[in-house]
Amino acid sequence: MSETGTRTVEAVIPAIRQLEGGGFEVRRPFPTAALEQVDPFLLLDHMGPVDLAPGEAKGAPDHPHRGFETVTYMLEGTMEHEDSAGHAGRIGPGDVQWMTAGSGVIHSEEPVESLRRDGGRIHGFQLWVNLPAKDKMVAPRYQEFTAAQIPKVERDDGVVVRVIAGRVGSVKGAVKTRTPVTYLHVSLPADTRFEVPVPASQNAIVYGISGAGEGELTVYAHDGDVVELVNDDERTTRELLLLAGEPLREPIARYGPFVMSTKAELAQAVDDFEAGRFGAIAR
Ligand code: FE
Repeated sequence: MSETGTRTVEAVIPAIRQLEGGGFEVRRPFPTAALEQVDPFLLLDHMGPVDLAPGEAKGAPDHPHRGFETVTYMLEGTMEHEDSAGHAGRIGPGDVQWMTAGSGVIHSEEPVESLRRDGGRIHGFQLWVNLPAKDKMVAPRYQEFTAAQIPKVERDDGVVVRVIAGRVGSVKGAVKTRTPVTYLHVSLPADTRFEVPVPASQNAIVYGISGAGEGELTVYAHDGDVVELVNDDERTTRELLLLAGEPLREPIARYGPFVMSTKAELAQAVDDFEAGRFGAIAR
């Protein structure tokens, strides 16, 4: 494709509220009946922002994944994580965990004990990124970054861009991705705009965290090579996530926490899980 200039908006899709894991509410722009995926992205969940009473915080107890990557980005509150390969850690405000599940892990994702006991605020995101067929059975791998390790672009007009993956000008994102993926957290103060170059071949979406377009997913057409982010409001800051990626264009066989290329691979994943071949979390 050789399209240049600003991309037009193809669709605006409201997130749907639903319960996930052990019973916490998320806003989910996809997958829903309106939008199955945004190749290579399989799912986006927005947790909170929510103030939880003591004993109210819930997480996602032990569950498997195979065939893709889960990306957790927290804005408020701290989650703890353990898996069947002996990996454990915490994800606090501004931190990112990019987990390549690959051939498979069983993991748990829970609010930290103090948050479960005393209550508190939780706000964060989980994104699922598909793996190319050839990489679906790679060994599990983690890329973890604290807030301070996420490169930032800070402009004079107050626009701040946290570059989780991809590149903004000369600033390179923290995460190494297997296929070209951009993941930006953009903060647009009142009356500002920011242009992000995105090759016309890539799928590009924006999810509104707060301010204009909160809880909405904007899907961009492939008619240009720039996504223009605008905050016309004169008082409120607009926070958003911009996600872009080169589509894999491969068949998907999907069932809950398993995303493979064929029905046979999917059946194998279920078999392996049921036979205990994913292992277990040592406690
Ligand atoms: Fe998970």
